[in-house]
Amino acid sequence: RWDTIWLAGLRDDEPDTLFNKILAGEIPASIVKEDGKILAFKDINPAAPAHVLVIPKDRDGLTRLSKSTPEHYEILGRLMVAAGEIAKDESLGFGDGARIVINDGAKAGQEVFHLHVHVLGGRDFNWPPG
Ligand code: ADP
Repeated sequence: RWDTIWLAGLRDDEPDTLFNKILAGEIPASIVKEDGKILAFKDINPAAPAHVLVIPKDRDGLTRLSKSTPEHYEILGRLMVAAGEIAKDESLGFGDGARIVINDGAKAGQEVFHLHVHVLGGRDFNWPPG
């Protein structure tokens, strides 16, 4: 139905998202960092000269940040440390200063309901964000 199609990807109760296809290697991504728990890849539609997404490999209920619980302390720490490492990686176009963003929910602009940390750099940023 049209409303189902329209809402595809905008709901947080989908069994998986397109990031699963990236994790499975079914759609290509430019991977910049990976370990057993996290994957970081270049955003396909960059909002800054440097734009990397960091995601947990196991979504584990983390469709969005506001679904996090103390059970997620470990993975959230890993995501933040990886984001901080990426944010200073000059080979990826980052310099001194980056904007780290998590959009929580459709109203905040979240489109993919698999928690992801945006790491943006290579330009100046305004505050407050739009
Ligand atoms: P928004 O699109 O408003 O930034 P999100 O916070 O949900 O929404 O971010 C999803 C991000 O995923 C977007 O920045 C989008 O460009 C990126 N993206 C979508 N498809 C791909 C893909 N195949 N490879 C890499 N990044 C992608």
